[in-house]
Amino acid sequence: MQWETVIGLEIHTQLATKAKIFSASSTEFGAEPNTQASLIDLGMPGVLPVLNREAVRMAVRFGKAIGAQVAERSVFARKNYFYPDLPKGYQISQYELPVVGEGSVEVMQENGSGKVVGVTRAHLEEDAGKSLHEDFHGMTGIDLNRAGTPLLEIVSEPDMRSAKEAVAYAKKIHQIVTYIGICDGNMQEGSFRMDANVSIRPQGQAELGTRAELKNINSFRFLEKAINYEVGRQIEVLEDGGRVVQETRLYDADKDETRSMRSKEEANDYRYFPDPDLLPLQIDAASIAEVVAEMPELPDARRARFEADYGLSAYDADVLTSTRAQADYYETAAAAGGDAKLAANWVMGELAAALNKQGLDIGESPVAAATLGGLVARIKDNTISSKIAKGVLAAIWAGEGDADAIIEARGLRQITDSGAIEALVDEVLAVNAEQVENYRNADASKQPKMLGFFVGQIMKKSQGKANPQQVNALLRKKLEA
Ligand code: ADP
Ligand code: MG
Repeated sequence: MQWETVIGLEIHTQLATKAKIFSASSTEFGAEPNTQASLIDLGMPGVLPVLNREAVRMAVRFGKAIGAQVAERSVFARKNYFYPDLPKGYQISQYELPVVGEGSVEVMQENGSGKVVGVTRAHLEEDAGKSLHEDFHGMTGIDLNRAGTPLLEIVSEPDMRSAKEAVAYAKKIHQIVTYIGICDGNMQEGSFRMDANVSIRPQGQAELGTRAELKNINSFRFLEKAINYEVGRQIEVLEDGGRVVQETRLYDADKDETRSMRSKEEANDYRYFPDPDLLPLQIDAASIAEVVAEMPELPDARRARFEADYGLSAYDADVLTSTRAQADYYETAAAAGGDAKLAANWVMGELAAALNKQGLDIGESPVAAATLGGLVARIKDNTISSKIAKGVLAAIWAGEGDADAIIEARGLRQITDSGAIEALVDEVLAVNAEQVENYRNADASKQPKMLGFFVGQIMKKSQGKANPQQVNALLRKKLEA
């Protein structure tokens, strides 16, 4: 039997607002427990939530970024359940009428062609608090700082057909929400959390299989592993004559397996109803137009522009637009360097390698974008060779100054004076009279390699500073004379 995998993702993105979705408390990460939870976040009797406009704007920005319909009218509902980190006994979310309707994104498949993945909806909701088990022996601590933090839950169609495709989709959503600045994308801090709905069906069957929902995955690597484990488990169940039950499962990264949390029968009945404390959310065309007018360039458009305007390959454009910070860095370096392709090579080559080695992000680069551009400019105008430039980059990295200062201080300026080069050539030819004879008598096919010997000697003599093109040209002229 050939099985087909079907995956739909629900992604919780934490919106990068300063204040919470229904109160003025700060959303800053890492504060002392329970110092950022107001009476509203706790749902005390008699208090009233007030919707944060910025959270709404961010939801609209996302809707417009994925070509979705933004609802003129959407409704906040209470999702009722009991949990210690949810003191008011319900979460405010959107249910039947979400703020963002159907849209889509395009992801790259393994075979290199694009695939459109449908987004069913995206809705605004508040986060719950956190239960802390580690530092409390035999007890659980409750931290309500996160209660009321705004989330946008993005729900996909069941359009993905492999773990890799699910990862590609999740990365695309991550790229979009960080590009448009609505989420910091920090997965360690829980700003981007994924639930994967996974089912399998016989190849060719139209009807979907029964799904399991893998909860709260916070890395792309775990997403891929959790789905692959789960697909294997479901195949085994079905091939052993059993049936998959609809349930929620938890991925255990240490054991690399998924475990049942609760089945459909045990699932909560949330008894959703419209929250009487909040008016329906009305968004008029003018405010949508305002958001559209402020929309930054989206990653796909930027990638296409990098190919068209800078003449970069599809691969280079893809790498250089992977994050907004990376793309901004590149564009600044390219402008300062005066050569887009050369700048791309240096950003993706030497600089990326150095950053990698130290585990640094582009945003943490000790070499500023304009400074790297300054180095590129000196390669382009032949002040230094690429080889010398590597040493200069290391010196910039070490804080010795910019390219011009280092080239001056170390006397690295390339020798382009034809008289000086001729003197070097003559000197080397004079002490290697035998090799010169050999060269002149050699077969034309052997000469290029022999020429390399003389070039090497001259470069050594000039400490790498002689202009290689000039050296080559002059040598050839003299040897053939
Ligand atoms: P619920 O209301 O239980 O959250 P939804 O219908 O909203 O269920 O679906 C939640 C997610 O599960 C969506 O991303 C959807 O694409 C996905 N999904 C639904 N059915 C399946 C299935 N049979 N296999 C895989 N994914 C599915
Ligand atoms: Mg759901």
